[in-house]
Amino acid sequence: MDALRITDLKKKYRKGPEALKGVDLTVKKGEFFGLLGPNGAGKSTLIHCVTGLAVPTSGEIKVFGKDSQKEYQAARQAVGLSPQEVMSLDWFLNVEETLDYHGGYYGMPRKQRQRRVDELLKSFSLEDKRKASVRALSGGMRRRLVIARALMHKPKMLILDEPTAGVDVELRLELWHYMKRVNKQGTTILLTTHYIEEAEQLASRVALINHGEIVDIGTVAELKKKHKKKTLEDVYLAVVGREELARTAKADAETDPGAGEGKGFG
Ligand code: ADP
Repeated sequence: MDALRITDLKKKYRKGPEALKGVDLTVKKGEFFGLLGPNGAGKSTLIHCVTGLAVPTSGEIKVFGKDSQKEYQAARQAVGLSPQEVMSLDWFLNVEETLDYHGGYYGMPRKQRQRRVDELLKSFSLEDKRKASVRALSGGMRRRLVIARALMHKPKMLILDEPTAGVDVELRLELWHYMKRVNKQGTTILLTTHYIEEAEQLASRVALINHGEIVDIGTVAELKKKHKKKTLEDVYLAVVGREELARTAKADAETDPGAGEGKGFG
């Protein structure tokens, strides 16, 4: 059974564009799958449809065989979402509570939650921050906590929405280490990114998305061979276009790298 099977997915926002124009996508069990595309391509919309945060206009999504709409509870249970915004954290909770409440939300009994919290604090190097307030954490710790929280209920698939957007190189490498390990331990990963290098480094298979359509899909080696290019960046330029790359770079510059990182909110 596939981890994720998306068939002819369309999403038109009521007051907005047709963000997805008939997407077909399959993620295999155990895969580290990269969804790569410029800002505005439809990556978040796709993830929101999979996780039930957005309602598809048409099409079908199956998560480990469960229909995301007809069997939404089972489908949601199978997925852990690490959202784009570190702001999704509750600034008034401490680290332990952040994880514990999330487990409670997923109906985990107390004993099981305690065990899982211990495991996650250990594997994300947050043990000595157990009682620390979220707002007192460094940017890197917050990002780690968001990923740990997504794994709290032991989902079979972890969805990472732009996990390293706007972080410095050092922190990016650190986060890659954690993501790789989660995948090695058996969790399927769907990663969205607009960083070509990130998809190249992490993903066993990559789908290129632009203007709401999957424009190509394959292993990095397959894509390079097919387009007769030496790097994934050259493939991206050929398939997605130079203008889109420039657009992404511009948006990055405007978002002020490091914004929200360790600056403190209150
Ligand atoms: P990405 O994640 O690749 O940057 P998004 O999925 O966020 O792309 O956006 C795809 C398109 O849908 C963009 O044109 C964006 O402006 C639009 N869009 C996203 N969310 C909404 C919304 N809630 N209402 C209207 N339009 C939206």
